[in-house]
Amino acid sequence: MLTKAPKGTKDMLPEEAYRWHYIEKAFADICERYGFTEIRTPMFEHTELFHRGVGDTTDIVQKEMYSFQDYGKRDITLKPEGTSSVVRAFVEHKMYAGPQPSKFYYNIPCFRYEKPQSGRLREFHQFGVETFGAANMMADAEIISLASDFLKEMGINDIQLRINSVGCPECRKKHREALREFLKPKYDQLCDTCKDRYERNPMRILDCKSPVCQELVQGAPVMLDYLCDDCRGAFEQLKTDLTAMGIEYVVDPGIVRGLDYYTKTAFEFVTDSIGAQGTVCGGGRYDHLVEEIGGPATAGVGFGLGKERLLMTMDACGARIPEPEGIDVFIAFMGDEARAVGLGLMKKLRDRGLKVQMDIMGRNIKNQFKYANRIKARKTVVIGQDEIDNDSFAIKDMDTSEQVTVPMAHIIDELVK
Ligand code: ATP
Ligand code: MG
Repeated sequence: MLTKAPKGTKDMLPEEAYRWHYIEKAFADICERYGFTEIRTPMFEHTELFHRGVGDTTDIVQKEMYSFQDYGKRDITLKPEGTSSVVRAFVEHKMYAGPQPSKFYYNIPCFRYEKPQSGRLREFHQFGVETFGAANMMADAEIISLASDFLKEMGINDIQLRINSVGCPECRKKHREALREFLKPKYDQLCDTCKDRYERNPMRILDCKSPVCQELVQGAPVMLDYLCDDCRGAFEQLKTDLTAMGIEYVVDPGIVRGLDYYTKTAFEFVTDSIGAQGTVCGGGRYDHLVEEIGGPATAGVGFGLGKERLLMTMDACGARIPEPEGIDVFIAFMGDEARAVGLGLMKKLRDRGLKVQMDIMGRNIKNQFKYANRIKARKTVVIGQDEIDNDSFAIKDMDTSEQVTVPMAHIIDELVK
């Protein structure tokens, strides 16, 4: 137990960390290009925020949250998703008072008590973006384009964009009635959670993971057939905007999304290449969420993109991630005086921005060279008593085996070059 990480969590070892750096930098770069700036929010929030922000009828709130009371008897929950916190911060800091839209991106760990399997963890990581204040479908098209560009840039070719509209509270009422009517004769067969959803939010049943419920909702009335004029117009506009940006999509009336407050646009990027958990990115519009959390009525749209699933998809597509380079200089030394000279030189080279290492294990000179090879040093410098006495230091290029000999006064310039 002591030497095993908790179920559903993963260590990220140094061999893997460079892959994470790569996607994190690329995501930050593309967000900046699209005019989004980073926001960082706490890893935990008041539990109540997620009841409001995610919704009481969702899987997340009903059975997946890591919630506890702290020593001050506050109800606290580890963030299961990113949107609620960003909305909370947007309201708390009255960012709605500034010029709109407000466009944020984030990079966060998320916690959900789920059954761990491939692509499904209890601690996982998300990139996300949120745009506030823009009711216009250009905002939806913009974040979809951002996700699409990012996935392409990461070398993913095998992924499909699926879009849907989940309507607004007005048109959803009619759909909800039709859905209840459809499910009425099947009510007894629904899982217990869905029996509860039948009254409170029957659309959630469409998203239930139980195979029985999935079977029961086959052929259920779809939201697209119930859209009011405004929602229908918005959906048509979104399609027009996506086409104008050269983004391919398919309309999938089955996309419901995991949060209660979605309105109009819902979308997913789905791949077949990583097994059952193929949704890499999911998002949509939530025009009532800011109000729900206590701010003024403000439109919002955003997505979450799972970093583990992204990396799995990149592997499946054979995407190349540049491997980390080795170090610039390894200083091999023999004897106490050489040790002091080497330490001084190493400090100066590091100050100049080079990656430099010396042996700190007491290896003999032969093994120091072996080690230099192992850590892929580009150049080595040898310092022994003879070199110090003659003020003549050999710099060896480990790729070409070429060697130059220089006095101490020139060694830094030679290496920085
Ligand atoms: P799913 O249907 O796979 O459960 P979701 O609808 O719960 O996904 P969102 O809440 O929309 O997922 O989260 C956005 C993204 O975060 C998902 O598309 C996925 O890439 C990732 N994600 C969600 N849950 C997990 C998890 N338990 N482990 C790893 N990644 C996850
Ligand atoms: Mg889920």
